[in-house]
Amino acid sequence: MSGLRLDGIVSAFEDGTRIGPVSMTVPEGRMVALLGPSGCGKTTSLRVVAGLAPVHLGRVTFRGQDMTNAPAARRSVGMVFQNAGLFPHMTVAENISFGLRMGKRPRQEIRDKLDWITEKTNLSGLEHRLPAQLSGGQKQRVALARSLVLDPDILLLDEPLSGLDANLRERMAGFIRDLQQDLAITTLFVTHDQEEALMLADEVAVMAAGRVLQQGTPQAVYSRPACLEVATFMGGTNFLSVTGCRDGAFETEIGRIAGPVSTSAAGGVSHLMIRPENIGIEPAGEAPGNAKDGGGAALNVWPAKIISVRYHGGLETILLEVAGRQLVARQKAGQLPAASAAVRIVLSPDHICPLNDEIPGEKV
Ligand code: ATP
Repeated sequence: MSGLRLDGIVSAFEDGTRIGPVSMTVPEGRMVALLGPSGCGKTTSLRVVAGLAPVHLGRVTFRGQDMTNAPAARRSVGMVFQNAGLFPHMTVAENISFGLRMGKRPRQEIRDKLDWITEKTNLSGLEHRLPAQLSGGQKQRVALARSLVLDPDILLLDEPLSGLDANLRERMAGFIRDLQQDLAITTLFVTHDQEEALMLADEVAVMAAGRVLQQGTPQAVYSRPACLEVATFMGGTNFLSVTGCRDGAFETEIGRIAGPVSTSAAGGVSHLMIRPENIGIEPAGEAPGNAKDGGGAALNVWPAKIISVRYHGGLETILLEVAGRQLVARQKAGQLPAASAAVRIVLSPDHICPLNDEIPGEKV
């Protein structure tokens, strides 16, 4: 069952700005990352879930229950933002228990829940500190604890890591993931950082220009993007334009390329994407290249020239020239054929990703 579902949500502002239609789901107890460039409508979608942004069309459901018109106060939703937004004059314990105290919960219950959540969020021992006496990561953990102590049905995280430095960011990402899985809380996580989304979430929903273009597992969205726009946003590097498709192979600017069996007959393909890590580099050898006219050449094998090699932390990024085009490859360092600029590249059909440039999804 989906813990949270947005069906064709359209949200419009007084100045005419319009977001949507947005459709996506968060399976019960899972974490979905809503990923997209700045201004595409991620925060607005989050605010729609919380009941803080207007809905002009569509439906929001929590565990199958229609919440589209429910006031924010009736929604069991916890929110954490980039800025922890703690009350500066309250201690950690007072910040965390604020919602319980406002709800006039019994003292013992407040004490028990506070003990439980401070332990879960590694804040035990810091209960009496003020926010000014905490590190950035500790502040974010207090903000998380303050939301989770109210036992919400849905947790909304809006770029909670972007205010932290790189090191802390990674640790905090792991912490959030472990906690989310431990509590099995339905979580929608907004980010513009594709690495963060791929690393953290059970599923990624890629958003652009007010619409969700694709939702799937990190692996699916990364290796089988639904369109050129998603591929580009997911860090696609090598795109070859396609001029035709014949006998299960695509005509491209570097010659004929056999694609994966499942999509070889598909029409409407405008580009092929090839990930850098999927370009095999071999010694030049005797094998014939895949000449542009395709005459009898081995399929998906080309003579290539190494233009440059950049070393970074165990990996090498290799710039290649292939049939007049430049392609980028990446592989483990130290595997290149010895001291020669002439090599050949091999593209496995299964790793060729055909794309079209039509944006999928509904139109309003
Ligand atoms: P960012 O990553 O920069 O926060 P975002 O993807 O979260 O961006 P939103 O904040 O949802 O994007 O904004 C989407 C669009 O809606 C933007 O063009 C923004 O200017 C506009 N917008 C957001 N809130 C309002 C508002 N209250 N009134 C008018 N326009 C708004």
